[in-house]
Amino acid sequence: MKKVMMFIIIVGLLLWFIFLKNNSDVNKLLKNVEDDEFYLEDYSIFGQHFNVEGCIDKKIDDDISLVLKNRNEEIKIESTFYEDQNKTCFYTSQKINEGIYLDDLKQGNYLLLIKEGTNNYKYYTIKNKTNYKDLEYYTVTRNNKNNKIDILFKLKNKKDYIEFNIKNSKLPNNVYDIVIDPGHGGNDVGSSGVLNGTTYYESKLTLDISLLLKEKLENIGLKVKLTRDDDTYLDPYGEGGRALLPNDYKSKYSLSIHLNSSIGNMTYGGVEVYVPNDINYDFANLLSKNIADIVGYSKKATDKVSKGVYYTYFTKQDIEDSNQEMLEKNMKPFDIKENSPYMYMIREVGGANTGAYIDGRNAYYGVNNYYNSNNTAEPYLLELAYINYYDDLRKVVNNKEEFAKAICNSIKDYLNIS
Ligand SMILES: [Zn+2]
Repeated sequence: MKKVMMFIIIVGLLLWFIFLKNNSDVNKLLKNVEDDEFYLEDYSIFGQHFNVEGCIDKKIDDDISLVLKNRNEEIKIESTFYEDQNKTCFYTSQKINEGIYLDDLKQGNYLLLIKEGTNNYKYYTIKNKTNYKDLEYYTVTRNNKNNKIDILFKLKNKKDYIEFNIKNSKLPNNVYDIVIDPGHGGNDVGSSGVLNGTTYYESKLTLDISLLLKEKLENIGLKVKLTRDDDTYLDPYGEGGRALLPNDYKSKYSLSIHLNSSIGNMTYGGVEVYVPNDINYDFANLLSKNIADIVGYSKKATDKVSKGVYYTYFTKQDIEDSNQEMLEKNMKPFDIKENSPYMYMIREVGGANTGAYIDGRNAYYGVNNYYNSNNTAEPYLLELAYINYYDDLRKVVNNKEEFAKAICNSIKDYLNIS
């Protein structure tokens, strides 16, 4: 019994010592910062990246940079500084899926600071001027390991500052790396095509491929959740809604799996990968290239942003039509932003970054709890092939394994999993 007590006391003292040490590191850093401070005007976690923008109300002529700093280390963060009237402002990237790559950060406590000077350095803290609060992030599973990152907005000795607290953590049961969404389901069979006298439905084919994909991703060590694993219908919004699940599970990526179709006879097939706005297309390009190796790139020219990659968005006319329709239904029009993503699995999953608008104002449509969230999965929608184009359908029916492999390999390459 005495030994147990002794052990508890020693562990307690050790933890207290670590706490004091971290605290004194922060105190030391805070002692040497300027009185005035930068302020954040926006920030978000989208996929695996933390992206920020902010300003200070003065001109700074010297060299400036954004850094993550603790007593032992100073990591320079790629960012752009510019003058705006009497302010000095910065941003990490204008692409929403760039910024600080969270999965590369080492464990420890860091402050996010602005550094000024060439020989003699000054540091500024950054204050949160937005309505958003602290963020919580789990890194993608690698070799069975994860880090938990808390991005905390703190106040000490009248100094506002941002702290990154990074520690080893096991993924909680309800947190996943990736969510795969097999399109449609239940009464909603999606599109269909006929091959050798048999009718094939999109909802069934996408489920088959998603089940294979899940298995492959788990084999490379990722924790994967499907929005549905049988032939059931899913509402987009509300409890268990497919547009909410990727964020309910705090996943980093959401991939919706669909098959394309068009009215009339198709003269071409091929892959179309649908993406959010203002992003770096690296991952989308990888996905489209690997799937195109099976079915080729689609020849569709509208909304194309790169080979096999597409961005559909709300035009002014779309918004007017939507408003008109809502008024006819005696409902309140939604706040839809021009040029924001059109497809709900892109728009609603991405929250504030992608112009999600299902905010609950019309009970009939339900509510997306993440419509204004600044911490969301990065969504993609894959139209793997055309179900009503004979050559494509033949490949989908006979090579489901190949499609799952193409998607899995893209993820493996993009996440750098060996
Ligand atoms: Zn579909």
